[in-house]
Amino acid sequence: MRPVCVVSADFEAEPKERCMLGADYVKAIHRAGGLPLIAPPVLDCADPKEAAMRTCEVAGGLVLTGGADLNPRLFGQSPHPSLGSISPVRDEFEIALASAALSIGLPILAICRGMQVLNVAAGGGLIQDIQSSCQGAHAHAISAPRWHPTHSVSVEPGSALSRILGEGVVWVNSFHHQAVQPVAPGFEVTAWADDGIVEAIEKPGAHFVIGVQWHPESLVERHPEFLKLFSEFVRAAQGMW
Ligand code: MN
Repeated sequence: MRPVCVVSADFEAEPKERCMLGADYVKAIHRAGGLPLIAPPVLDCADPKEAAMRTCEVAGGLVLTGGADLNPRLFGQSPHPSLGSISPVRDEFEIALASAALSIGLPILAICRGMQVLNVAAGGGLIQDIQSSCQGAHAHAISAPRWHPTHSVSVEPGSALSRILGEGVVWVNSFHHQAVQPVAPGFEVTAWADDGIVEAIEKPGAHFVIGVQWHPESLVERHPEFLKLFSEFVRAAQGMW
C-alpha cells in the first residue's frame, strides 16, 4: 500500500489568497510509490503547532518544498537588503511541521527552501544572500530550464545521501539565493558546491531526515537517477529504510 506522504504547500496573499504547489513534487512522489497529500499553511489558526502535529500523525513521511525566503527573524537576523518576499503564515506552519516531524521521528525529505526550513526549525541559520555575502561564490540563482543541471556538488562518502546518489560529483539544478549556514546542531553537511555553499544536510542516525538545496523533483523525468531520492524516502515512509 502506498504510504501517505504529506507535502507542504506555498501560500500567496496577493492578489487573491491561494494555496499552491508545483505538480512536479506530487508526480515525483507518486512515481516513487507514495501517495502525496498536500498540506496547506493553516490560516488564522489558533494553534499551528497542534495542526502541524495532527498533520504529521496521519503521514508516513513529510516533504518540505521550495519557495520564497524565510523571515530572518526566525534565525535571529535583521532583513538583508537583498531579502526577497517572505510569508510569515507559511513560515510558521512549515517550522511547526518540521519540528513535529523531528519530534516523532517521521522521515523528512526537505527540498530547497524546505532544507532551509528544516535547518532553522532545528536551530540553525541561513545566509540571506549568497551573492553579496559569499566572496568567490558562483551563481546559484540560475535562469535555466528546471530540469537542467547547472553546477556540480560533491557528496560526502559514508552519508545516507551517498548511499542513495553515490559518492563524489553529482550535477544539480540551482534556483536559490540563500544558503544554510550555520548548520543546525545534530545535523551534518553531506554535499557541498565547489564554492563552499552547503548543498545537502542530514541528521545522522535519524530515520531518513535529508535536505537538498537543489530541486530533484524537476530532474527526475530527464535524469532518473534523482528518482532514487524519492523512492528511498517512500521506502522510509513505509518503515523499510
Ligand atoms: Mn546551488
